[in-house]
Amino acid sequence: MECNDERCPVHHGIMPRGIQLTGVVVSDKAKKTVIVEMDSARYMYKYERYLRKRSRIPAHNPECIGAKTGNIVNISETRRLSKTKAFVVTKIVK
Ligand SMILES: [Zn+2]
Repeated sequence: MECNDERCPVHHGIMPRGIQLTGVVVSDKAKKTVIVEMDSARYMYKYERYLRKRSRIPAHNPECIGAKTGNIVNISETRRLSKTKAFVVTKIVK
């Protein structure tokens, strides 16, 4: 498949490095960008309750991957691609 995205980790010069995460795509409205959300729950003994944390990370979505809202994706840290993006989608898990 032809890939014209110069920020593609598979076909062009983006080197994924650093941390890798798995999350759910919650927005694909922006061009070539998806918002990936991650949930985590940690038990707090002092309060006997779960502390829920949620983080949203904007990630670059290369043409040849094309993740959509609802997809579970792997993202990897890379060089800063724009003011807010420093992650790239590397794989659609589901
Ligand atoms: Zn590509």
